[in-house]
Amino acid sequence: MAIDKHRVLDRVRAAKKSLTPQRMCVLDAIADTDCPLSAYTLQEMLAAQGNSLNISTIYRVLDFWVELGLIHKIESNSTFVLCQDQHTHHLHVIQHCISCHGISEACELSQRMTLPTANAFTPQRDQVIELKGTCSRCQAEA
Ligand SMILES: [Zn+2]
Ligand SMILES: [Zn+2]
Ligand SMILES: [Zn+2]
Repeated sequence: MAIDKHRVLDRVRAAKKSLTPQRMCVLDAIADTDCPLSAYTLQEMLAAQGNSLNISTIYRVLDFWVELGLIHKIESNSTFVLCQDQHTHHLHVIQHCISCHGISEACELSQRMTLPTANAFTPQRDQVIELKGTCSRCQAEA
């Protein structure tokens, strides 16, 4: 999946952070892969490209991007995927196919979800809701 460098720069600047080569190579590797990656797979991929980073650095960089909302963590299997939604909704709805482990983001669904504002419970912004199910391709094969 292509990554919008302007969007990346805007987010980084808005958070008053800087774009380091390490941060950029991790983001590029995630963006180049369609399926979600674990930190260890990512480490192997980067090593193959001549970028040997230790695992704690990789986790730190992943946390950085997750915090900025450009990468999502799939909690159920601890993998990381590029945010596919260009909008800034409060929620990101990830559709996780339990048969092929494909991931897609449901923009429409996240737009329809409104968070309570004046309530006893204030949900964190930018969080990921993971929906498990079967993607259309796997449904067709069944
Ligand atoms: Zn997203
Ligand atoms: Zn599937
Ligand atoms: Zn959207």
